[in-house]
Amino acid sequence: MFTANGDYANLKGNYLFYEVGKRARAYAEAHPDAELIRMGIGDVTQPLVPAVISAMHRAVDEMSRAETFHGYAPDFGYEFLREAIHKRDYVSRGIDVSQDEIFVSDGAKCDVGNFQELFSRSCRIAVLDPVYPVYVDTNVMGGRSGAFDPVKGGYANITYLPATAENDFVPELPKEPVDAIYLCYPNNPTGATLTRGQLKPFVDYCNKNGAILLYDSAYEAYIRDPELPHSIYEIEGARTCAVEFRSMSKTAGFTGTRCAYTVVPKDLVCRDEAGNTVRLRDLWARRISTKFNGVAYVTQVAAAAAYNEGYGEIMNTVNYYMENARIIRTSLEAAGYTVYGGQNAPYVWIKVPGGDSWAFYDELLDRCHIIGTPGAGFGKAGEGYFRMTAFATRENTIRAMERIKGGKA
Ligand SMILES: *Cc1c(COP(=O)(O)O)cnc(C)c1O
Repeated sequence: MFTANGDYANLKGNYLFYEVGKRARAYAEAHPDAELIRMGIGDVTQPLVPAVISAMHRAVDEMSRAETFHGYAPDFGYEFLREAIHKRDYVSRGIDVSQDEIFVSDGAKCDVGNFQELFSRSCRIAVLDPVYPVYVDTNVMGGRSGAFDPVKGGYANITYLPATAENDFVPELPKEPVDAIYLCYPNNPTGATLTRGQLKPFVDYCNKNGAILLYDSAYEAYIRDPELPHSIYEIEGARTCAVEFRSMSKTAGFTGTRCAYTVVPKDLVCRDEAGNTVRLRDLWARRISTKFNGVAYVTQVAAAAAYNEGYGEIMNTVNYYMENARIIRTSLEAAGYTVYGGQNAPYVWIKVPGGDSWAFYDELLDRCHIIGTPGAGFGKAGEGYFRMTAFATRENTIRAMERIKGGKA
């Protein structure tokens, strides 16, 4: 009989958003007249901007003629897109990243999930708690987690760094030695951000201990405070320890169009199990060349338009969601809730009265017909909190807040 990868058996339950969706579907079936408002899964609602759409049309037309047709794209992305990204996200901010350290892909979820293939199976990872589930689950699949420990409320071999109201959502450094730390700022799900001074100890820890930092900045476009860093490479020392993941999903409405990128600096040098000195950049490049055949030309042209002529338009959409976030924050505060986030991130993190986040999920669904995400689904330290996203339409955001204010939750 064929033998399957037994590490998958360690995965705990269903993927969070699957469970959230399943409960919502069951409710909708039982209550066909309920008008549900979705503020749960982090999918966007605003269409692609006009500049992106016209670039995409032009690219489709090019694909229709033999002289301008494009087949396989370069593995690491077309130079026109890598250059646009490099200029906009790094050169314009004075950040030291070179164009050949940027790898264009079809999603930050895949990149962040695939990156652990470069780790030894014996690596110990640290994650924030609560956490975006992809970091944990892909390391479970990679055999690094051990079994789920119900007493610990997490996997035996994973180090959790709690980020809650008690520590102002600023995690402490790991107390036990770890080989890799996943950080996500602006944070999903808490909406928290870290200053340069708060990030520096993580960079220093990694350089000192030969660990790597996996920095997910999928939400950097939502930063409003000019003092906050957008990239981990704004922190001194990051080039020798950090990998950065970015996505156009929440920035430019590409959740369905699929484009993202990962930065792996040439200065990030480590050792493999045989003791050879290796550059992670070279391993990542090799992985991509072997397993990936590039992002669609049409998509990359569309992405470049978002970085170039469409930049103002995509920022308008980001501003639209941030106004939603402001409405959610102020309405919930006025209704007596304690809320966090939503100021430099499209997520509002609510302290649940009573402390049971799945009970709050059911109650909000039943009384207000609003779908959010229970904090407990993001980890043990997420219990007692609830996530709402700013990605709904303005109209639905306002309607949802009126339902809550109307005393229905
Ligand atoms: C949405 C999101 C991403 C983006 O994933 P894509 O695959 O690019 O759509 C990455 N990281 C976090 C934390 C996210 O919430």
